Amino acid sequence: MSIRKLKAAVRDVPDFPKPGIMFKDITPILKDPKLFRAAVDLFAKRHRDKGIRKIAVIDARGFLFGSALAYKLKAGLVPIRKKGKLPYQSFEESYDLEYGSATLTLHVDAFEPGEPVLLIDDLLATGGTALASAKLIERAGGKIVEIDFLIELGFLNGRAKLAGYDLFAPIKY
Ligand code: AMP
Repeated sequence: MSIRKLKAAVRDVPDFPKPGIMFKDITPILKDPKLFRAAVDLFAKRHRDKGIRKIAVIDARGFLFGSALAYKLKAGLVPIRKKGKLPYQSFEESYDLEYGSATLTLHVDAFEPGEPVLLIDDLLATGGTALASAKLIERAGGKIVEIDFLIELGFLNGRAKLAGYDLFAPIKY
């Protein structure tokens, strides 16, 4: 399965969730058995036999690829969630959005000290979400091996915000 085929399945939805945003809808990939497997396998092939112990996944679309990947790599799964969703003692990181701010949280006991962690989300835009998530992982003692996205919106320059981390994003706009 080529990356071109995966990219062709991403649906552009204009003005969602608000005017001026071109939303990259991955549900056509999710609902197609071959495409979904191919997307998960892109990450799995890259990290096979690399000793990834934990996969941290970002609320909510990161969960979709990251949980399948964790199963495949025989790694544990750690959710990074929007504030108010995690039940146990948590670290918090707030970051700026285009309008206002958002807060992500992570359980304080998510990782062993120095444990290798792969961070997964569906899409890199400005990088604020991934940077807040990376800070949470490090506060909880995890060591980030790489941050992976299915899609990167290169024109928003999220990579600059994540300088210092290894990134992988096969589908680019
Ligand atoms: P950012 O923090 O700006 O990198 O935004 C990344 C987060 O917002 C990811 O969790 C994405 O799922 C979501 N996101 C941002 N922009 C878009 C977009 N154009 N299409 C789909 N999801 C997006």
